[in-house]
Amino acid sequence: MSDRGKQATRTVSQILAEVRRRFTEGGIEEAAADARVLTAGLLGLSSTELITRGGDVVDEEKARLVDATIARRLAHEPVHRILGEREFYGLSLSLSPETLEPRPDTEILVDTVAPYLRRLAKDGERIHILDMGTGTGAICLALLNECPEASGIGSDVSTDALRTAQANAERNGLQGRFQAVRSNWFENIAGLFHAIVSNPPYIASSVVHNLAPEVTKFDPVAALDGGPDGLDAYKAIAKDVARFMQPNGIIGLEIGYDQRASVTALFEHEGFKLLESVKDYGLNDRVLVF
Ligand code: GLN
Repeated sequence: MSDRGKQATRTVSQILAEVRRRFTEGGIEEAAADARVLTAGLLGLSSTELITRGGDVVDEEKARLVDATIARRLAHEPVHRILGEREFYGLSLSLSPETLEPRPDTEILVDTVAPYLRRLAKDGERIHILDMGTGTGAICLALLNECPEASGIGSDVSTDALRTAQANAERNGLQGRFQAVRSNWFENIAGLFHAIVSNPPYIASSVVHNLAPEVTKFDPVAALDGGPDGLDAYKAIAKDVARFMQPNGIIGLEIGYDQRASVTALFEHEGFKLLESVKDYGLNDRVLVF
């Protein structure tokens, strides 16, 4: 009998149950949710189809692909890294080794900044956005998608990240209004912007290596490490940002849970006023607008 013949055919539900069992036994925290995302992604099904087509027999080659990826999650690779993509603010984004995986909390930055841009657009302004340390392009692309009158620059020091951001712009039909620029903060940036946004590295260097292995082993350290006090990026931005702002422009920043006072002080020192402070889903300070 061939190998193929020995292996019983399995249904979608059976495979899902098997993945969940292996994840649970392996101590994966969100075992059920991760099993759903990974199985659906690898089988090319939506989360609804995972249930409604639970009785479908899965092609053995695909079933083996699922089997083979279980070990990667057990070795702490996040499911979206395994799939190479994730959703952010309704956009589908590719990930690469030099891009931070966009977090749901970062959607709050988009939620907070988008209304300011819509208001300006209503006044007839042609909106221009700068997203520094754009990574996958997530923040800039989501804002462009929300605000059809806007164009934007996503800057990054990593050429790998810029390639990914550009591909993500194309993937979501936003390439006409998006430009990827290699720049260390404002170094290669010209122009005046209505919104300067960033989710910069903000974790103190001494803490970076104590994060979950999902983060330390798979997110690029350059996107996390904010120097001795975690504030290096905010200092670099605050120092020069005034020269790049439209008079009615805003600055929107993601921050660490304990950085509200210190980041506010840095920008107030440069003459900016805190307009809004927003908490994340864990009720930590997460977004500041100046
Ligand atoms: N929020 C990320 C984390 O929890 C950190 C992102 C950053 O430093 N900008 O790891």
